[in-house]
Amino acid sequence: MQPWAEILLGWYEEEKRDLPWRRSRDPYAIWISEIMLQQTRVETVREYYHRWMTRFPDIRSLAEADLDMVLKLWEGLGYYSRARNLHKAARLITDEMGGIFPTSYKQILALPGVGPYTAGAVASIAFGLPVPAVDGNVLRVMSRIFALPEIDQTSVQTAIKQLVADHFPPGREGDYTQALMELGALVCVPRRPLCDCCPLTGQCQAYEQNTQSLWPVIREKKPGKEIKRLVVVIKRGDEILMHQRPATGLLAGLWEFPGVEGSLKKELAPKFTDEYGLQLKVGKHLVDAIHVFTHLQWDMKVYEATLAGDDELGGKPDFRWIRLKELEQLAIPTAFRRIRQVLFTN
Ligand code: SF4
Repeated sequence: MQPWAEILLGWYEEEKRDLPWRRSRDPYAIWISEIMLQQTRVETVREYYHRWMTRFPDIRSLAEADLDMVLKLWEGLGYYSRARNLHKAARLITDEMGGIFPTSYKQILALPGVGPYTAGAVASIAFGLPVPAVDGNVLRVMSRIFALPEIDQTSVQTAIKQLVADHFPPGREGDYTQALMELGALVCVPRRPLCDCCPLTGQCQAYEQNTQSLWPVIREKKPGKEIKRLVVVIKRGDEILMHQRPATGLLAGLWEFPGVEGSLKKELAPKFTDEYGLQLKVGKHLVDAIHVFTHLQWDMKVYEATLAGDDELGGKPDFRWIRLKELEQLAIPTAFRRIRQVLFTN
């Protein structure tokens, strides 16, 4: 019987999607696409990738860019630490590696924001190294083919990585990595795999046992914690007071409409003074907005406000007055885009 990896590669040749990053072996381009594709749909990435590569065609142009500009280009993709790490890594490669993208798995893995999956993908696709890149898609495909349904278990993940590594076809390492991902994305999909279109029915144990919709076994995730927030749009003429979040933690370093935890309007001004040392005069209710992160949800009540009395910020570098029309240029997390939209339509 023909080995399954060979059949898979034959299918990939015929069926693969024409994606812009697949036209390149440039490790920089592949790295950018792999980082963008984390938790983001291919169709969304296409557009961002095109804009990014036009603005930052190589490592040097990214390293020389201002972080604000990088974040602005990333706006809407979410998980902004990915953009910050790309920028940091580009500077590291420029300053310490002579501007040459690292060529070994270990060196790629050492770059900021790069985990084993991304390092494996870049190493195999750009450099033809036989290093597995195992993400959720690949785990699902392999768990079905080899009857290893308990993919939550570390021992099962290790076994799957080993199986992927054992079947690297010499000279086609990058295609093999992408073929596994492609089968998971197009055919061996989570709920109802399209087995009728699959080249591997003869090799697949889930298909043989008719368990393809039951495998892999997914345990229910606990719902994210719900946090109520009171958020303010502080106005001064045609300017808005924006706050830069701390350099670490949730939405690190991004600009936000400032807020505090709580749900009652009367709590807002005193809590705001406690947290930021600024006196508020709270005005009318503007909008409610919800934002769901992976592990928590913000339920936001948004109010207009002005600073009470003296509106000098008195040495608070994390606050800045921004003209309303300049808000468009600021990288604002998706969580706050609804508020910005309301400001522009009011
Ligand atoms: S036969 Fe079905 S379950 Fe098995 S790999 Fe193909 S699509 Fe997935």
